[in-house]
Amino acid sequence: MGLDVRTVMVMFSMMAFMFFCLFELAGLRVGAIRGVRQWAIASLLMCLGFSLAYFYGQTTPGHEWAAVIGLTLFALGTCLQLTGILAFKKRPVSWSILILFIVMTICQAIWFSVIDPDTRMRAIVNSLLFFSVYIVCARALLINVEASQKLAYWYTGASFVALALLMLARAIALLLSTDAEIGLHVNTSINTLPFLIAALLEFSVAFGFLLMLNHRLIADVYQMASRDALTGTLNRRRIEEDALRLRARCMRTGETLAIMMIDIDFFKTINDRYGHPAGDKVLCSLAEIAQNSIRPDDYFARYGGEEFCMLLTATTEKEAFELAERLRLAFSEFTLTLGKDRINVTVSIGVADSNDIGLVFEDLVTAADQALYRAKQKGRNQVVTYSSMRANDTL
Ligand code: GH3
Ligand code: MG
Ligand code: MG
Repeated sequence: MGLDVRTVMVMFSMMAFMFFCLFELAGLRVGAIRGVRQWAIASLLMCLGFSLAYFYGQTTPGHEWAAVIGLTLFALGTCLQLTGILAFKKRPVSWSILILFIVMTICQAIWFSVIDPDTRMRAIVNSLLFFSVYIVCARALLINVEASQKLAYWYTGASFVALALLMLARAIALLLSTDAEIGLHVNTSINTLPFLIAALLEFSVAFGFLLMLNHRLIADVYQMASRDALTGTLNRRRIEEDALRLRARCMRTGETLAIMMIDIDFFKTINDRYGHPAGDKVLCSLAEIAQNSIRPDDYFARYGGEEFCMLLTATTEKEAFELAERLRLAFSEFTLTLGKDRINVTVSIGVADSNDIGLVFEDLVTAADQALYRAKQKGRNQVVTYSSMRANDTL
């Protein structure tokens, strides 16, 4: 192969420095997302590690220690890639494994470079050590991944798997090779080719990290755009989107979709008497109670002001009425303590389902709103179903 192994190292070192700058700049704007600064420092350590390896040559004085320090920096960089992944995923770090990996890398580097120089054994042990840490990185990326970011995690995880396989193949090739001298400066295909592929895969890992960051930011923006800032529940825009998907699903499966419109009674009086912040606390508490009582398949949103909307999948009006009654009771039993004051609030709820109304969201909201209005007229703190309201009207 015409390519010089040291040229590959220079190329890798420069690219790693560019990634260091890139991650540092990215880290400046995404302070809340952890892990990015660790990837920046990892790139810098790898850049320095490879720069040292570049100057490593059999005749240079102190070359043994250049190899030891270069390898240590590269191992530290790889560990920081891993801790960065775990921080990004908000997972705990298993420090004992990392310390073991670094200590083993340093010890074997000192042994096979300084005490009993043997470049072949050093390369084999190194390849196996890096094989194991790349597998740990791949595992951290491929398991327990948020659905919205799967693609980016899998891309980066696949790059680590490829790195691990490369290290394994290199260890096997070295074991089978008859070459006596395998030092880093030697241009054999067993050196140059794996270094070139490893350098490309490390770029791929860095691009994968950037992709993960990009997907995380998109997910965060989508999350912000679909949540209510005060209560943290879904907002009106998001439940309207979900309703469209649910409509398609119910048309396919024939399931009934039920809706609940919930409105706090005399909420204006609470605001007037205790102040707006107290009203906000009431809204948050009620949202929390409702959110804790729905199934994972149901949707709960702040529809506007002090009005909430709940969509219940595979639920009839009768079943929704029972849940609404339980919610109404839970709300009425809830007491908010504000200094010396204790506030009790009640809600009125209107219920309807798609058997009567059809699956168009606006029609369901209108029907449940009419039932809610009837509950208010009847004295508040009660649940009214659309069908019972219609039955009473025709009497
Ligand atoms: P009713 O029993 O008929 O529903 O009476 P109400 O007082 O609850 O109804 P009304 O619609 O007159 O009042 C709603 C109030 O909700 C008016 C508005 O100031 C208040 N509100 C809307 N959004 C917020 C909010 O984000 N925080 C607080 N604290 N109040 C809000
Ligand atoms: Mg109200
Ligand atoms: Mg209202």
